[in-house]
Formats: sequence, C-alpha cells, structure tokens
Amino acid sequence: MKKVLIIGTGPAGLTAAIYLARANLEPLVVEGYNPGGQLTTTTTVENFPGFPEGIDGSELMQRMRLQAERFGAQFIQGEVTKLGLEASPYQIHLSNGDTMNAVAIIISTGASARLLGIPGEKENMGRGVSTCATCDGFFYRGKRILVVGGGDSAMEEANYLTRFASEVSIVHRREELRASKIMQERARKNPKINWLLNRTPLEVVAENERVSGLRIRDNRTGVEELVETDGIFIAIGHQPNTAFLQGQLPLDEQGYLQVERGSPRTSIPGIFACGDVQDPHYRQAITSAGSGCMAAMDCERFLEGSAYHDWSSN
Ligand code: NAP
Repeated sequence: MKKVLIIGTGPAGLTAAIYLARANLEPLVVEGYNPGGQLTTTTTVENFPGFPEGIDGSELMQRMRLQAERFGAQFIQGEVTKLGLEASPYQIHLSNGDTMNAVAIIISTGASARLLGIPGEKENMGRGVSTCATCDGFFYRGKRILVVGGGDSAMEEANYLTRFASEVSIVHRREELRASKIMQERARKNPKINWLLNRTPLEVVAENERVSGLRIRDNRTGVEELVETDGIFIAIGHQPNTAFLQGQLPLDEQGYLQVERGSPRTSIPGIFACGDVQDPHYRQAITSAGSGCMAAMDCERFLEGSAYHDWSSN
C-alpha cells in the first residue's frame, strides 16, 4: 500500500511530489500519456518567477520532475480509469488492469484542449487541424494558417505561428477579444496577423485528405464564405480531465473538480485536488504549482492524523 499517490505531472502534481518527497512520504506519481501537461505544448514561459529570460515549457517541466526524483518521488506510466473511494485505503484502477491502494490521493490531472465540434474537425486532426502550435507549427513553413479563438492562447499561438507561416489569420466569434491587453497588442502589432472577427467556424473542408479551407459565417451579415487555408489551429480553451471521477466526486457544471473554497480538500478526507483540474479561473503555471504545494501540505497533515500513521506496522 502507498501512503500517497499523485495523479498527473503538470506543475501542480510535480510540486506536490517535490514537497511530499522532501517530507519523506515517498509519493508515487502516475504519469499519463502527456507527461508534463500543457506547459510542454507551449513556447517560452515568460511569467514563471525566477527565469528573467524565460524558460522553455518542456524544460521547466523536466526540471520539476528531476527535482521531485532527487528527493525520492517514484514515477510510473499509466492511465487512471477509476478510483474506488468508498473506504480507506482508496483504490486506484489503471487501464492496464492493475489496481493499487493508497491512504491519500492528490488529483492533478489538468485540462485538455477544447474542440469546436464542427464537421471535419476531428476527421482532419493531424491532417491540418491541430491544437498545439508548438508541436505542429514547424510543418507550416511558408503556409497559410487560421487560428480560432480570441483568448490569450489564440494570441500566443498566432504570434508563434508567424515564425513559420506566410500568413496567419485569427478567427474569433465576437468583435472584442478576451485576451489580455499585452497579448492583444503583441498580436495586433504583428504584420503577419490578419483578423477575421465576428466569424463563426462552421466546417473544416479537406481535399485529398488534407485541410484546404474553413467555412465560416459572418455574424453581422449572416453571409457564409470558404476561407482557403493549409492549417487550422484551435485555441478555444480547455476542459478539465475529470471523466474518470464521474459519480465519485462532485464536479461543477463545466466538469471542474470541486474543492473547499481556498483549499485543496475535496469532499472526501484524504483526497486532494490541485492545478487546472480544479481551477476554472487562474490556470497559470505558478498558481498550479502553488496549489500543488497546498495539496502536499494538507496531505501531510492528513497522513499524520490518519489511522495508518504508524507506517512500520503496515
Ligand atoms: P479562454 O481565455 O477561455 O479563451 C477561449 C476563447 O475561445 C474565447 O475567446 C472564446 O470566445 C473562444 N471560444 C470558446 N469556445 C468557442 C467555440 N465553440 N467557438 C468559437 N470560439 C470559442 O482560453 P485560453 O485562451 O486558452 O486561456 C485560458 C487561460 O490561460 C486564461 O486565463 C489565459 O489568460 C491563460 N493563458 C495565458 C497565457 C500567457 O499569459 N502567456 C497564454 C495562454 C493562456 P469568447 O471570447 O466569445 O467567449
């Protein structure tokens, strides 16, 4: 039986692992199929304190992982499909059929890119539709690209993609952008970025199994048009990775895991949540890391008071 199991290896899970490992609680970390989480799909992280020149997102995550390993955190690869939370010790079921037991669990499974849900989108994923500019931008050297969304992600992706593309157009459903002022200004100053505001994406069009265009509607006039393009990057936000918790723990209407206000505690003692999986508001690397620290500290306190406190007898 494990004392504590951490699910997810973004900034929240890895910070929790660093703290728990340093407290000699030997955390076992389950690393999913996207180790490092969303920061591995971003470019330079410029707002994580301590890196005045910025740091590559993947490198930042690699460094956090090394830090956790240095203090004794163990990692296994796997996908958690279900938790058994009826009684302690809790059960963790993996997709390979393995089951483990733990006295405490920290859930830090993050969030995943949302899709538009329009015809042609899923079918052409990897054939011109992408949710990750850092991963796929390189393939669009000298090509035309559309970025869908009006938030910080869309601005960031559009700016990044101008390194490769001949032309980038941002397609957004409203006139006003949701993005922060600084990100908007950066995009507006970029001469390679064009704007298709007040436009709703309707259908991804492909020819010879490659994206060739996006059909959109002008929301002011109702007129539809086909915009020719070589690639479509969807940057419309994220949804929390909580499908495996359905029916086990309270989720809000968007699927975010609910915690006690201002704390990492869920409704079940010994089950903690941190990072984007429980945060629809801030969703920053630094707030995730901070909440990972909080989860680890509360978890440590919980373990001290638990019936399993005397580890030598287990
Ligand atoms: P977001 O702020 O939620 O923005 C999502 C955008 O997609 C919105 O403009 C939204 O339109 C649009 N959208 C949503 N569903 C859509 C649909 N079905 N069809 C068409 N458009 C749709 O998400 P985000 O940009 O991923 O940012 C998430 C958080 O991360 C924010 O807090 C952001 O500040 C942060 N972030 C920060 C940085 C940075 O500082 N470097 C970079 C990336 C993200 P509406 O505006 O009309 O709702």
